[in-house]
Amino acid sequence: MSFEKFALHGSLLRAIKDAGYETPTDIQEKALPPALEGRDVLGCAMTGSGKTAAFVLPILERLFKKSRGVTRALILCPTRELAMQIHETILELGKYAPVKSATVFGGVPMKGQVQAFERGVDILIATPGRLMDHFQYNYAKLNSLEVLVFDEADRMLDMGFLPSIKKILQHIPKPQQTLFFSATMPSQIGQLAKDLLNRPITLNVERQAKPATGITQSSYPVPQSLKPALLLELLAQNPIESAIVFTRTKHRANGLQKYLASYGVNCERIHGNRSQAQRTEALKGFKSGKYRVLVATDIAARGIDVQDLEYVINFDVPAIPEDYIHRVGRTARAERTGEALTFFSKEEEGQLFDIERAIGLKLPREWVDGFNYKAVGEKMTVDRGDTRQGDPRRNAPRRSPQMARGQGTQPARGQGTQPARGNAQTARGSAPQAARDQAQPAREYAPRSDGQTARHEHARPSSFRRGGSSRGRSSSR
Ligand code: AMP
Repeated sequence: MSFEKFALHGSLLRAIKDAGYETPTDIQEKALPPALEGRDVLGCAMTGSGKTAAFVLPILERLFKKSRGVTRALILCPTRELAMQIHETILELGKYAPVKSATVFGGVPMKGQVQAFERGVDILIATPGRLMDHFQYNYAKLNSLEVLVFDEADRMLDMGFLPSIKKILQHIPKPQQTLFFSATMPSQIGQLAKDLLNRPITLNVERQAKPATGITQSSYPVPQSLKPALLLELLAQNPIESAIVFTRTKHRANGLQKYLASYGVNCERIHGNRSQAQRTEALKGFKSGKYRVLVATDIAARGIDVQDLEYVINFDVPAIPEDYIHRVGRTARAERTGEALTFFSKEEEGQLFDIERAIGLKLPREWVDGFNYKAVGEKMTVDRGDTRQGDPRRNAPRRSPQMARGQGTQPARGQGTQPARGNAQTARGSAPQAARDQAQPAREYAPRSDGQTARHEHARPSSFRRGGSSRGRSSSR
């Protein structure tokens, strides 16, 4: 099945081809025909299903038929990352179309966004909070709006955006078409959809939300204090080129990023306290291969779309099953394959059971060969230094052990533990060697919780020690 069968403008078909989309995904197959006819759509789409193109293409098609200079489409989404991601899809699929689009989200100056309102860009992609900020002013009028899109509506609810959304709806004309997407359908979202949509075509709503089918899922029992060392061991034993690692809190994300960097792992972090510029740089660096690991919290990870992302590692078990589905949905996007690993401590077992119940699957338990599960854990430093828009000096990294010895925290590209992308070096088994050669065993002496300094014998994977030998791969038991 190709895209040719849809009533799409030739220049959109060209852009679709350039983007490398050969066949429509399931949601595109089902949503495009009614959406192109102007019908309302209620889509319960899995994350990574290709839903963005399912609403972007009908909007672009509509814009061909109308005179321009006013905003005709508004896309509401929960996070800046998702807004940027949607914007990229619009730029990609609309590259031969005379269409202007802009993003409106917090964490960046209002000025450029004010101009977008004043110029009347065709499509606005907005997070609800910042859009409400603009609506206080006269320039922010969307009187010619025709299409309204809700993307990841369930997450907007989780983030407390429902009151803002209700106010936004009072501020805009009743749209001719509403396209409503949500990974899950909690009752408040179901009610909102019912109030807004006019005889919608309903897709997949009955289906329980599940991670995409191409994801191999497993779980790793591990004491809480040994999680950092276990992660390091996995990175040492496996030629993992790109992994998003999720932590429960921003502070744990900071601590883990520092810990990994101190062992020479190229990594960055992304969470709500980081400035937009920092988040953009982290994501860009991760996509380009500069960073092997991106440590993230749930909120910031929405909308992260990295082609060929191999691994999602849940360093902490997500509190709710929906978050698990969204997290692991970062890999195996658009019917590709990927691996999702979940570390869980004794205290997190209950949450893991909830997830297994929700997805209807018992995750296989895995142990890593040679890892000392009885070792003394190495403490991550919990860094509370990040502030959203704060003084940049507060965001400067503290002196790490290497810096104290006159070395940078991040080895130059190609010199760290990260194998080059597409390089033969990435064959299984090569990473531990690279890790051994390059990683700096920065913590000969790890701080103990009692404040004493103790020689740290066990928790650090031996393969990250200078001259240590690599070990076998993980195995199921
Ligand atoms: P989404 O679920 O919209 O975030 O899309 C996930 C990923 O799938 C993005 O990288 C898209 O570029 C890609 N994608 C969307 N539709 C297709 C398609 N029909 N064929 C191949 N890739 C696609």
